[in-house]
Amino acid sequence: MLFIKRGKFDQLLKSLTGDYKVYVPRSMGDITGYSLLGESDTNYEIGEIRSFDPLKSFYFLGREKVAEDFKPNIIRDDKPPCIVGAKACDLKGFRVLDFVFIDDECGDPTYMKARENGLIISADCTGSGETCFCTAVDINPWPESDFDVNLSPVDDGFIVTTGSDKGSDLIESNKSLFTPSTEAQIEVIQQNRNTVKSSVIKSAKECRIPVSDRLRRVIKKQYESNIWKDASEDCVECGACNTICPTCHCFLLYDQKSDGRLARFRIWDSCMIHDFARVAGGDNPRDRLWMRLRNRFDKKFNYFPEVLKEIGCTGCGRCIAACPGKIDIREVLARLEVR
Ligand code: SF4
Ligand code: SF4
Repeated sequence: MLFIKRGKFDQLLKSLTGDYKVYVPRSMGDITGYSLLGESDTNYEIGEIRSFDPLKSFYFLGREKVAEDFKPNIIRDDKPPCIVGAKACDLKGFRVLDFVFIDDECGDPTYMKARENGLIISADCTGSGETCFCTAVDINPWPESDFDVNLSPVDDGFIVTTGSDKGSDLIESNKSLFTPSTEAQIEVIQQNRNTVKSSVIKSAKECRIPVSDRLRRVIKKQYESNIWKDASEDCVECGACNTICPTCHCFLLYDQKSDGRLARFRIWDSCMIHDFARVAGGDNPRDRLWMRLRNRFDKKFNYFPEVLKEIGCTGCGRCIAACPGKIDIREVLARLEVR
């Protein structure tokens, strides 16, 4: 493994701005948010925990023109994204998005292009948030796959791991910036990882979340339970739990005039909203709020494990923090387990 000093890493990022739109995590009061790296800009924080917003918004935009005058495949013509400091929970989120949007025949061309041409420089978590429960869904709080380069923060820089050919090429073409890592540094990152993991495990245990291989059975067993009605009582149907989630990917299309042309736009949709599943004749298979809450859990903990062999929740805890009704996914899962 290699080591890079923070100052050299600043240099590396600056050199990437020619080919990429480089997004860096910054402290914004109590939260971490992403914004573009500017000229001579070194004001960013690697480490900490996942950002407030999910990283999907750089690949699957909240609103995007996808066709014009009936011609599809409008391709974004700007530079691909380079996301710095991405966390393991967000990287796992891409497994679901890739499954949905990448396909030779009917994939989403803008998403596919951004994923193919983009660069991901991930980072270990150096702490855990109040709502984090990644370990309960079998994710460690450090990236193990799905990145190009990973950074493990140590005192005055980062231990660097490569995860793809693109990442290896990046290191190779900038090798003068790196030095070999020391055993002491490796020991430090191992200790950091153990500390953070223990803290997440402790908090997930306190919430009594069912162990991951029971989640699917629990959802199926409790499909007709009254817990769904109880749990949905405080929901105000805002859809924040969907928009903030790194694995939620539903969208709707609408047409409108844009610059004198007929344009088709794609915007994020939410399965918690009343009309999400309404069909043309007016019928609605999930016209009750509790049915929609149950569907959200079913998709994450039953459907995706079945079709993708991946849990559709990464334990990032964003939906807990975002919900105005204070509906806590961990509590709902714990209630389902004990009945
Ligand atoms: S369901 Fe909630 S905790 Fe799970 S990935 Fe989505 S936002 Fe994160
Ligand atoms: S964020 Fe909370 S209140 Fe809003 S739709 Fe989701 S569960 Fe309901």
